[in-house]
Amino acid sequence: MRLKGKIALISGAARGMGASEARLFASEGASVVLGDVLHQQAQAVADEINNSDGHALAVTLDVTSEQSWRNAVNAAEQRFGNISVLVNNAGILVREELEEGTDPGWDSTMNVNAKGVYLGMKQTVPSMLRAGGGSIINISSISGIVSLGYPAYNASKGAVRLLTKNVAIRYADKNIRVNSIHPGVINTAMMDGDTRSDEDWDRMIPLGRFAEAIEVAYGALFLASEESSFMTGSELVIDGGFTAQ
Ligand code: NAD
Repeated sequence: MRLKGKIALISGAARGMGASEARLFASEGASVVLGDVLHQQAQAVADEINNSDGHALAVTLDVTSEQSWRNAVNAAEQRFGNISVLVNNAGILVREELEEGTDPGWDSTMNVNAKGVYLGMKQTVPSMLRAGGGSIINISSISGIVSLGYPAYNASKGAVRLLTKNVAIRYADKNIRVNSIHPGVINTAMMDGDTRSDEDWDRMIPLGRFAEAIEVAYGALFLASEESSFMTGSELVIDGGFTAQ
């Protein structure tokens, strides 16, 4: 039970990596709060966890709204107590190249992927301070490290990388650790509609395949647990060797 006694709030937990993290964290003893705009799907994952002797609560959360974060944190505290782990996982991918880019495409990407992470930390840190510390895990991407994909997505994930370091340094003496995860190409709904063929991707990825969501969730579990107690402001790359090339 690597997360026994921990209370974890995970954004974008209705499906994909967020749902995988919620299931894994619960199986390791955490009480999990699943926040998503897709409430019914988040509720279904929470029901599944509760039916397997875990402890889960689904809350409606739009990460772009500060009030929505306040409501989610309040609901989490009332049900389980102060939050000790936050996974800022919610994200969107708008497929617009530079010259065809639209204001709504840019703004929604930055709002969900970057501002959502900022608001999540802003609203959760007070709860962690009351808990005596905590671990924040921000899901960036290899697009937060190298040029890959669409401009707004690349920019938003780069912002998450440095925002993580800013908050990590600010709260290091408060026992709050903040790290980013940089997944490569993961087999989730986000990759539906990708125009590259599987063979193209397999050639680009040294390990020769997409990853499954659980392979990122194991990294998040490590960062959430005390096993990563000397890590803060750091970047955990889980990309099958993509950025090593
Ligand atoms: P996904 O689309 O399956 O899941 C994203 C979740 O975020 C969904 O449940 C969605 O409803 C939720 N979400 C979107 N907007 C939201 C909002 N405003 N408020 C609350 N929830 C919202 O995708 P995924 O692949 O599981 O993505 C998880 C994270 O991993 C994202 O931040 C994504 O950018 C990142 N990532 C994905 C890949 C990949 O290849 N799939 C690679 C690197 C990083």
